[in-house]
Amino acid sequence: MEAMVIGPKYECLLFDMDDTLYPLSAGINLACRKNIQDYMRDHLQIEESQIAEMCLGLYREYGTTMAGLKALGYEFDNDEFHANVHGTLPYDNLRPDPVLRTLLLSIPQRKIIFTNSDKVHAEEILCRLGLEDCFEGVICFETLNPPAAPSNGLSKSQDCMLFSGEPSSDLNDLNRSDLRPKSPILCKPTIESMEAAIRITNVDPKKTIFFDDSIRNIASGKAAGFHTVIVGRSSVVRGADHALESIHNIKEALPELWEGHDRSESDAVLASAAVETAVVA
Ligand SMILES: [Mg+2]
Repeated sequence: MEAMVIGPKYECLLFDMDDTLYPLSAGINLACRKNIQDYMRDHLQIEESQIAEMCLGLYREYGTTMAGLKALGYEFDNDEFHANVHGTLPYDNLRPDPVLRTLLLSIPQRKIIFTNSDKVHAEEILCRLGLEDCFEGVICFETLNPPAAPSNGLSKSQDCMLFSGEPSSDLNDLNRSDLRPKSPILCKPTIESMEAAIRITNVDPKKTIFFDDSIRNIASGKAAGFHTVIVGRSSVVRGADHALESIHNIKEALPELWEGHDRSESDAVLASAAVETAVVA
């Protein structure tokens, strides 16, 4: 007799948010980049002719331009930066997505957002998409980079449940040696950010699927042990186990998410799949 698999194959789904839960064509990404460049010019007095190349280079090197600016020694307030960069985005381009909402709510596994974005932006996006109650929690900028000021309370908001920030000392311990200047900001795609997400959510990466539109984030997620899905592409990239052109295709690409779960956990949408599973078993 073959060995029995203990427990479900997958227990948790980690979702990137920007350009993963909504398409790049919404224009949020482009507007965000422009705002970052404006901030670099207006607040950090960086020479305009250098900004575009610098912005892209730091993004590539450090995961976010902000993390790169900090690594170079620029000093600015994180909240002020986020307010400037995310304060004027074309959120009106985003519409509620009831199809995705129904899909997410039918998925039996834990579902958690893992984004480099700040809390205010994450809440805005999830609310605009009508997905604010589809996730157990949100790992965002503030989760991985808690404010230095002592705060014992959870950063809970009325709309989105956020994981509490970890003590800074723990995160500093994770910053391993590297030749480039270190950034004090912890963010994807570093392996340390993946490890922090695993620890914060207490998931087994081998039973977790990580969805992201970024090739380098996917590569890092694979290195951390996750099953990986590149979103927004029709073919797999290095480190990706699956490719989804749209997050809406999740059921076609990963039907196993719904398999093997007790029928009591399944909603009406899954009734037929559950019966089929029972017959096969
Ligand atoms: Mg993204």
